[in-house]
Amino acid sequence: MQKKGRITVRGIVQGVGFRPFVYARACEYSIAGSVKNLGSEVEIYAQGDQFPEFLSAVSRGPPQSRIDTVIVTDTTKEIPAGFFILPSGTGSFTGMIPPDIACCDDCISDIFKDGGRYDGYWATSCVNCGPRYSITSAIPYDRERTSMAAFPMCAACAGEYGDPQSRRHHAQTIACAACGPQLTLLDTAGNRVDCHDPVKEAAALLDAGRILAIRGIGGFHLACIEESARELKNRLGRLEQPFAVMVRADEIDRIVVIPARERDYLTSPIHPIVVLPKRDPSAHAPISNLHTIGCMLPYTGLHHLLFHHLKHPLLVMTSANMPGYPMITELDVAMARHSHDVDFVLSHNRQIENRCDDSVLRDGYIIRLSRGIAPKRTAIDLGTRCILGVGPELNANATCYINGFAVTSPHVGNVRNPATLEYLEETVRKLQRLLGAKFEIVAHDLHPQFLSTRFAREIASEKGLELVPVQHHRAHIAATTTAPCIGIAIDGVGYGDDGTVWGGEVFSGRVPDLSRVAHLEPVAMPGGDLATRFPERMLYGILPEEECLALLAKRGWSDIELGVLKRQVATGFAVTMTSSTGRALDAAAALLGICRERTYDGEPAMKLESAAIGGRTEPWVLKFGTTNGCETLSTRALMQTAFDCLSEAPRGDRQAVRDCAASFQYNLARGIAALAIHAAKRDGLKTVALSGGVAINCAIRETIMSEITAAALDCVTNAEYPLGDGGVSFGQCVYAGTLSSQRR
Ligand SMILES: [Zn+2]
Ligand SMILES: [Zn+2]
Repeated sequence: MQKKGRITVRGIVQGVGFRPFVYARACEYSIAGSVKNLGSEVEIYAQGDQFPEFLSAVSRGPPQSRIDTVIVTDTTKEIPAGFFILPSGTGSFTGMIPPDIACCDDCISDIFKDGGRYDGYWATSCVNCGPRYSITSAIPYDRERTSMAAFPMCAACAGEYGDPQSRRHHAQTIACAACGPQLTLLDTAGNRVDCHDPVKEAAALLDAGRILAIRGIGGFHLACIEESARELKNRLGRLEQPFAVMVRADEIDRIVVIPARERDYLTSPIHPIVVLPKRDPSAHAPISNLHTIGCMLPYTGLHHLLFHHLKHPLLVMTSANMPGYPMITELDVAMARHSHDVDFVLSHNRQIENRCDDSVLRDGYIIRLSRGIAPKRTAIDLGTRCILGVGPELNANATCYINGFAVTSPHVGNVRNPATLEYLEETVRKLQRLLGAKFEIVAHDLHPQFLSTRFAREIASEKGLELVPVQHHRAHIAATTTAPCIGIAIDGVGYGDDGTVWGGEVFSGRVPDLSRVAHLEPVAMPGGDLATRFPERMLYGILPEEECLALLAKRGWSDIELGVLKRQVATGFAVTMTSSTGRALDAAAALLGICRERTYDGEPAMKLESAAIGGRTEPWVLKFGTTNGCETLSTRALMQTAFDCLSEAPRGDRQAVRDCAASFQYNLARGIAALAIHAAKRDGLKTVALSGGVAINCAIRETIMSEITAAALDCVTNAEYPLGDGGVSFGQCVYAGTLSSQRR
């Protein structure tokens, strides 16, 4: 039996308390030797009678670790008595820093232990919890390469850090009130508010209805009580957008209905925002006028302290940046941007190295991949070449593939402005440095005008790299499966092979050979992007009938406006053709009068989904056609039926609106499923992959899935990546990798 050896453990072994874990196991099994952090691996020399037991314990790793391989080799090295944690060295850098981890239960009780070392201290953490990615500038993960370097440990913290019996043995983020980062409460002029306890004072201000900017782990939030939500929306000029809330754990069940699986997500180390159905769909309207509300539980010591003092059970918590822009991390930027929007600022003096928005989940699917999940690392074989995927334009992030792993960055935002482009560039540089990556291929969206496409071209021409353009919806399918399949990509908009706007697509084949075989019938987007902002334009694009014009006239459109609209659609001037599913849903929302102007991403479709709650579905006649050899589903026929249903209903009949919304979604989904089923039968494929932002719509996703299952086919989705555009950079890497491997 082996009694001595060199063990190398690879994977996410940094920032997860791996070395103290190994130390504790060595004590447990009377093992002599040492452990050393080498970047992406941990090197252990071990000797003792219970070597096999020690090895199997070490191979399991601490809770937050992700172990890829454990290799044991013989060693002739002399191993002295005792066990030692050695200073970090440098090895291969293919590992990864773990995501930030929500404050653990042990640390919460430390914070509320009267007279304890961590009593009331906001940045309490241990080897099992606390910030990681957001504070790390380089690997190996050690205090000197994090923003904790600015806070030398006091004697008591140093003692715990060195104590093998402590939960903070080698905890790089260890800090206490005596030595760690401090909070300050400021007014909007930047003056310190004189108070004994900034958190207690902040809670009192919030309770009194004031709006605060709060610097968190990955950036600034704006916070207020429910009674001030309307005021916050007014100040921000975002009257319709739903806000997320942070809720006290003992109150959350009174606000939303939480299925068991969702409760597990809420309380997981991620502590994401989980979009949940409201207990009373019409309640909390000032926060969210949808049937759902995004909820999260307190996830830092600061949050727990805040709620301890706060009399109200929930706080609106929305990120302080404009939607689609990067999270604000710096105090001076927050001050400059929000001096008129907020009343006070609660800040701290720990540098945020990497910004991280809150992650958002719904029904087990990721809507926003960020804090607690990113950097997201997936083992996948995409060949030997290093690939960068720069994502699409909206909800972008970046993915790097290297040595059998794809690593996706946190959410970056809408790369439509210089600030977000700069953040994308910074994110790519960071991934490159943390992974030691030398890109060989750069994958990007097919759209020639996207800033992300231009960025990809710049990197490629600078370094002479191969460029792989990936059609948006093929990237969605690639992110879902690499097996032969029929792929459904239902989405807002994406640039198609033919230069028109796609978004309701059915493919057949296997990545990277995916042929477009069916889609929604192309319809006019009168005024191009204007039709996205004003869905009534889209309604006429889909249903270019006199009765539609009459409806718009009744809603206040002038004869001149209607004349222009009519001429555009008739002549095709200033018209883009689209097969987008999102635009069809927008048009239905416009028809029902529930959204006449889109003020935030996805608004009309989200309101349609809410309007359909409690609606009865009725099967409508589906009309199919053929365009250039592809089968098409007529959205015009669906819209005509919806129009007729609504015209027949008495005015102001809310149930009729609900029924119509529900039936429109149901029949659109049924039609899309039928396109896929027809293609599967024809091409002899058994699997249907479903992706795209519209698949986040629960009613549509479930209808498609059940129709497909009923046709004796498998329907697969990828719950590990966002169904929407946050999954595209990963899909681009998968597409480019399989293409490159195929060519070799
Ligand atoms: Zn902890
Ligand atoms: Zn200390």
